[in-house]
Amino acid sequence: MKQSETDVIVIGGGHAGLEAALAASRMGAAVTLVTLDPAKIGEMSCNPAVGGLGKGHLVREVDALGGALGRIADAAGIQFRLLNRRKGPAVRGPRAQCDRDLFRSAAQDVVRRTEKLSVISGEVVGLILRNGLAVGVSLSDETKLWSRSVVLTTGTFLGGVVHVGEQSWPAGRMGEDAASRLSEQLREASLPLGRLKTGTPPRLAAETIDWDALAPQPGDEEPVFLSFATKRPAAQQISCYIAHTNPAVHAEISANLSQSAMHAGAISGPGPRYCPSIEDKVTRFAEKESHQIFLEPEGLTSSLIYPNGISTSLPLDVQERFVRQIRGLERAEIHQPGYAIEYDYVDPRSLDRRLAHREIGGLFLAGQINGTTGYEEAAAQGLIAGANAAAVALERPPVEVDRATGYVGVMIDDLVWMGVSEPYRMFTSRAEYRLQLRIDNADQRLTPIGIEHGLISAWQREAFAMKQEALAKGRSALREVSLTPAEADAQGIAVRADGVRRDGMALLATPETSFEALESLSPMLAEVSAEIRDLLEIEAQYQVYLDRQANDIARLRMEESRRLPPDLEFGSIAGLSSELQAKLSEVRPETMAQARRIEGMTPAALLLLLAAGEASRRRSATG
Ligand code: FAD
Repeated sequence: MKQSETDVIVIGGGHAGLEAALAASRMGAAVTLVTLDPAKIGEMSCNPAVGGLGKGHLVREVDALGGALGRIADAAGIQFRLLNRRKGPAVRGPRAQCDRDLFRSAAQDVVRRTEKLSVISGEVVGLILRNGLAVGVSLSDETKLWSRSVVLTTGTFLGGVVHVGEQSWPAGRMGEDAASRLSEQLREASLPLGRLKTGTPPRLAAETIDWDALAPQPGDEEPVFLSFATKRPAAQQISCYIAHTNPAVHAEISANLSQSAMHAGAISGPGPRYCPSIEDKVTRFAEKESHQIFLEPEGLTSSLIYPNGISTSLPLDVQERFVRQIRGLERAEIHQPGYAIEYDYVDPRSLDRRLAHREIGGLFLAGQINGTTGYEEAAAQGLIAGANAAAVALERPPVEVDRATGYVGVMIDDLVWMGVSEPYRMFTSRAEYRLQLRIDNADQRLTPIGIEHGLISAWQREAFAMKQEALAKGRSALREVSLTPAEADAQGIAVRADGVRRDGMALLATPETSFEALESLSPMLAEVSAEIRDLLEIEAQYQVYLDRQANDIARLRMEESRRLPPDLEFGSIAGLSSELQAKLSEVRPETMAQARRIEGMTPAALLLLLAAGEASRRRSATG
């Protein structure tokens, strides 16, 4: 039996596992990444695109914390679009259509260039647990690997079953084996497992599509990238195309619903409500005569097209019939059928905010295994889990992000706090402080945290410091401006005639005033670069709302900092209703901020909880 020892073992080379391994390595840990097939590192299991609304925010945050997803997606990007461009900056989402092969090779290149990261091809069949701690893993060939912490990121592979129509077979994704032995062991170790499902559309042969019959959808002329570091596209840029379903397509689908695995009940777990199958769309929105389909090339040299919007688990012959009733797809050949997959996930309420398992020390979980869906959600969790696994191995402080600082904090808080009832995906509406959590300021919010924990490379630190300095100079130049309404009017800047003097930030806060309107007021303002001007305009426009939120955020942070002892006996806190005692015992809040969000929590109950926490801490201190 072979044996070896490392600081951190990461199980799984998907999007979560990759960021986990990279984050732990950046922090200085020796990392072993064990994955079924290293050639599949960077595989995009579903749509060849990264980002979008909410998801684009997560990618920017991963990038701001030194992660790789944004840079990889930009390197592989063959079309860039900023979604919600006409809406406010807080809800705009950058999205990159990617070439699958370029994406995979960029991801594998990052792995090759990362020091202290070794990759092993193998199937993990068990965690090695000693005295309640995860201390290693066993592989199917009986190799044992030892470590100080373990990150589990097995995606849809645990107990995975693929369904096409009435046929089903065990698989992790199409063409790859499921990981069933590990799933059995996790069940035995009492990890709370549940079932979820997701689906993917058929892949079409590009040469069989009548492109002239379809509307092209070009990318943005001025692309917005996912990484702060990217300045221009690396690959050739292409157009996507738009097709539409029609009543005949819907009739074909409706007539065969009983054969759909997702729809007819062959699969028990809930599916992604926000990424519904075409069967779901046709039944849930029966009044709609047409749904959009985005025909997305899988790459520059690929002959495959991903028809985004018709995820399905109908039998192949029905897929062929309904696809060929779509204008432009009359002769379309299906290269790989659409399918649904159901898989085991671990109830994320068994984790804390580091994504550490609450009972098994040194075990971290990230990605689809925690009930999420999407590369972006997986990568963001992977980064936090990997950083914390390294923190445990290297005896460093935990790496945490709160809800007011990042979408990554919102997601983890939602997961560990509320659990999931369907695959969780990010939306801007999930963040109560979304005016603050913008793509433009993700680096200002998170890079300092990354620097503090050693997650940021020297070049990224330097680029960030230069940008901060330029922003600070621009802000101070704006603050030196001081105009009465009459003086502003004389400069062609319209403000309310209220006699109040305004500085440059206040003048910029009115949407009609652009930076250019102010630049003649000082030579320092004229020197500010276009990039910094855009950032300061957004900052100024949001300032008034952020000032209003400041008190709420201060209270959240204060309550986040008030930790409840992990062994607090919630069931015996005198004065609390038995209902609250039961709820607290079930969800075991880690902080007063989490306790506040429990349904039915009152100010009086919070005071009792605070006192009980203090008393418990005093008792522990006096032994
Ligand atoms: P994965 O990317 O699945 O990676 C898991 C990794 O773990 C793999 O490398 C695998 O080899 C490895 N592994 C598993 N078990 C073991 C083991 N025992 N030992 C060693 N290695 C192991 N996302 C969306 O946003 N929208 C969608 O519509 C969507 N649809 C999807 C449809 C399908 C059919 C699938 C499969 C996925 C879909 N996704 C979708 C999800 C997206 O692909 C995932 O959310 C994302 O890839 C999850 O990343 P992950 O790192 O958690 O897991």
